[in-house]
Amino acid sequence: MELSGRKILVVGLGRTGVETVRFLLKRGAVVTASDISPIEKLQKVVTELEGMGATIESGEHRLETFLWADMLVLSPGVPFGLPTVKEAIKRGIEVISEIELASRFIKKPIIGITGSNGKTTTSTIIAQILEASGKSVFLGANIGTPLVQIAEKDDKYDLLVLELSSFQLQGTSAFKPFIGTILNISPNHLDHHENIGEYIESKMKLFSNQTYNEWAIYNADDNLIKEHLFKIKSKKIPFGETAIEGGVFFDGTYIRFRDELYDLTKMKLIGKHNIENAMAAIASTRILECDPRLIEETIINFNPLPHRIEFVRELKGVKYYNDSKSTSPGATLRALECFKSPIILIAGGKDKGGGHEILKDTLRERVKLLVLFGESKFRIEKDLGKEVETVIAFSLEGAIEKAFKDSKKEDTVLFSPACSSFDMFSSYEERGRRFKEIVQNL
Ligand code: ADP
Repeated sequence: MELSGRKILVVGLGRTGVETVRFLLKRGAVVTASDISPIEKLQKVVTELEGMGATIESGEHRLETFLWADMLVLSPGVPFGLPTVKEAIKRGIEVISEIELASRFIKKPIIGITGSNGKTTTSTIIAQILEASGKSVFLGANIGTPLVQIAEKDDKYDLLVLELSSFQLQGTSAFKPFIGTILNISPNHLDHHENIGEYIESKMKLFSNQTYNEWAIYNADDNLIKEHLFKIKSKKIPFGETAIEGGVFFDGTYIRFRDELYDLTKMKLIGKHNIENAMAAIASTRILECDPRLIEETIINFNPLPHRIEFVRELKGVKYYNDSKSTSPGATLRALECFKSPIILIAGGKDKGGGHEILKDTLRERVKLLVLFGESKFRIEKDLGKEVETVIAFSLEGAIEKAFKDSKKEDTVLFSPACSSFDMFSSYEERGRRFKEIVQNL
């Protein structure tokens, strides 16, 4: 792809946007970047990028700037629904994501993982198995290093393992992973996508350029994925709880794939959802001919990542878990399914627009008290308050205090917010650290 002399607008100046501007400038493009944050917040990068020759628009998105460009590159999280982006599309301007741009400069095989939940866990497991098999692996995209940072510099890797979000996939047109995995689809990010249909379409785009030479791995038990299977043209490997020809399945004790058996009973990760993540990892790494025993051993020894159903401490017979990475009701449902004893669930945060109905049955069965805090507390109370005893708190400290007071020996206190953290914290990591700190001080 020739970039020299092309007029390109980069939308969003987070880490990915900044790297994209650098990449484009180095290849001779005429680059403008637009970010709605005020100049004071961007000053450092503005000075650097202007010094390199970029034009920066801050504090607003002007239509004129968008229509000036031959092509727009959207940073992750920038919605296609922005009026200026919509108008550019209407006028025939090409709009792509940084993943699409970068992938046009990448030669090594890509293993792409998406889904509403489980992306980081599964991508990290796959990367660990490949590394244990002696391969040199890049793990990044939606986590860690943006893909554009290794565009044209992928020679040093054998394979690239990419965690991909719906936003990144929405802006793809020619992107084609050698192996694509869709772990699950549940309503998420509806504050950014126009509707659930657009969200599902974005996820399914992972498979859309694949042919019979590539592989599609997907969750066969997921109803939303099932409706779109007819679109897949690549070789399929379903995974789930039922045996399907050519698929990976969990028989209740072992995972089976082809004539192989995987015993993960000693796995450190807990919950059915992690069995699903393991099945997806087995399928991907077997396609790449990793040794089954090495795959099994790596998965068993994989340590849970922080903030994902992370055990914090036991106090007076009550166990406390931090699942701050749960930013959607789908993830919270899976966390609740991991515990049988009476659960006190602490939830709430920044609302992402979906309802909480999917939690109803499990809440009624397993939760003795629901403690709500954050911006969405009253909305969740409206959706779920009738199912279970519910109390409202006005801070995370207050929520933990209420859970602590109401807990009895053998209870589990689970912090699984089902919402993003940006109402009160800078990230899910900060929120999880704060939870752990308060619990350690009880
Ligand atoms: P992502 O990168 O997609 O956000 P993570 O691996 O970071 O996924 O996990 C995010 C949250 O989702 C955590 O609360 C975790 O326990 C939960 N989770 C992990 N895997 C799955 C899965 N396969 N299905 C549902 N929830 C999952």
